[in-house]
Amino acid sequence: MAVNYRAELVGVLGDPVEGNPTGVMEEAGFAYAALNWRYITVKVLPGALDDAMAGVRAFNMRGVNLTMPHKINVLKHLDELSEAARLIGAVNTVVCRPDGTLFGENTDGKGFVQSLRDAAIALEGRSVCLLGAGGAARSIGVECALAGARYITVINRNAARGKALAQVIGANTRAGAAYIPWEGRARIPEGTDILINATCVGLHPHGDECPDVDFDGIDAHMTVCDVVFNPVETPFLARAAKRGARTVDGLGMLVNQGCINYELWTGEKAPRDIMYTKLKSEFGV
Ligand code: NDP
Repeated sequence: MAVNYRAELVGVLGDPVEGNPTGVMEEAGFAYAALNWRYITVKVLPGALDDAMAGVRAFNMRGVNLTMPHKINVLKHLDELSEAARLIGAVNTVVCRPDGTLFGENTDGKGFVQSLRDAAIALEGRSVCLLGAGGAARSIGVECALAGARYITVINRNAARGKALAQVIGANTRAGAAYIPWEGRARIPEGTDILINATCVGLHPHGDECPDVDFDGIDAHMTVCDVVFNPVETPFLARAAKRGARTVDGLGMLVNQGCINYELWTGEKAPRDIMYTKLKSEFGV
């Protein structure tokens, strides 16, 4: 039998990407499954995406992740979008199909929803309060609504972004949605079951910072989640835990979206435990 030395290529395009841990997680999975696949972490400056996507095709890559600042600009390069990616208006995962067409998906919110399922927390009929209306928040808000949340309240500083997200959810899903401006200390709406920090507040190197919310509004019946995964244990989650809330960190979302990407690209089941263990070791948890 002839030996095939050619590796299948996937990767991430973004700037900055220096602190992006996705590659080590995906490659741990490929190695475990004995797949000759490589995940390359590539710095692509804001004006260089067109050239980079030509490179993706030229290198016959099997797919790519997109991170800041390319999640929206990549849309014009794609032939087809998933329904969720269309609603979200951004793509973090591209699948390069054998026929040469490019399919765009957004797996951030799907990974988040799975992290709730992993913790046996139901979304069906629940009232969600979402802090933030950026890329991660849009993905999470849409997917929570598609997964059966009853109501989504978006709290954001930028009114245009906050209103747009509430509008997309309200118009395209069965969930109700409203926008509340973030002025001073944000009050958590009464009846909130699941509170999610989907802002970048608390992200390394500002790991001691915390979203300005009224923690008195958090109680033991709530689940409180953070999308920030570096650090894994954020002050936001620590303060919510002190109020008696259940907490869900951002690492579960990260590994879950990584597993979804792995499966979209390879067509094989991702070795989640291996990938999760690798990720945890990267963060020393
Ligand atoms: P964006 O830049 O698209 O959005 C940032 C959001 O944070 C905006 O809503 C912005 O509000 C808000 N924000 C920023 N600073 C403040 C502040 N001081 N007070 C209140 N709100 C603030 O970023 P992303 O959505 O792409 O990323 C957000 C976070 O999600 C990052 O920490 C990222 O690492 C994390 N993430 C985690 C993933 C995981 O798998 N765990 C996957 C993807 C992202 P405004 O609109 O008013 O400016």
